[in-house]
Amino acid sequence: MSRRQAIRGWLGTLAGVGLTGLLVPDVQAAFGRIKTVVIDPGHGGEDGGATEGRVFEKHLNFDVSRRLEIQLQRRGYRTVLTRTRDEFISLSQRSNIANRVRDSIFVSIHFNSARRTSAYGIETFYYSYDGYQLASRVHSAVCRKLRPEDRGVKKGSYSVLRHTRTPAILVEGGFLTNSRERERCLQPWYRQALAESIAVGIDVYGGDVANGKI
Ligand code: ZN
Repeated sequence: MSRRQAIRGWLGTLAGVGLTGLLVPDVQAAFGRIKTVVIDPGHGGEDGGATEGRVFEKHLNFDVSRRLEIQLQRRGYRTVLTRTRDEFISLSQRSNIANRVRDSIFVSIHFNSARRTSAYGIETFYYSYDGYQLASRVHSAVCRKLRPEDRGVKKGSYSVLRHTRTPAILVEGGFLTNSRERERCLQPWYRQALAESIAVGIDVYGGDVANGKI
């Protein structure tokens, strides 16, 4: 019998004596719960990220991060931003912030660039197994909503993913080097839809963690 089955059996017994309501929160806590989302707006300050004309990746990352923060707070999550203004934060500082927050996950927001300007679409990176579980849920929620070119869920050896001990992902929300996609990324509705769908995916992950599915 697994631990979960054991607890279910135990709950069944308790249901008979009317104590379930009292004790369920403790049992759920045994499965873990995601309380806080650390949102990492990529780049900042002197590091503009991908730059196309007057479009700076760092500004788009920050805008999506703020929108995501609102969506997550509406769903009952606490949020921590690794930067709250246009300033330079090193990669190790970003991971350190994430590693200090208990019961949290880490979501880094970026937009993409490529030498080949025809490249476009959305991709989501992870490094650890837990990161993969989070990435796959977020990526499918984003693709369902935005119907982009689906570049997939990929293992990526990014510093912020390797050094963050909590489940960590990095979302690349579109290519600024592709003129059509850049126009989309510059539209507020697009960034709002991106933020909303990332929040949906996070909530699916949070639910699966709380239910002991992961
Ligand atoms: Zn970037």
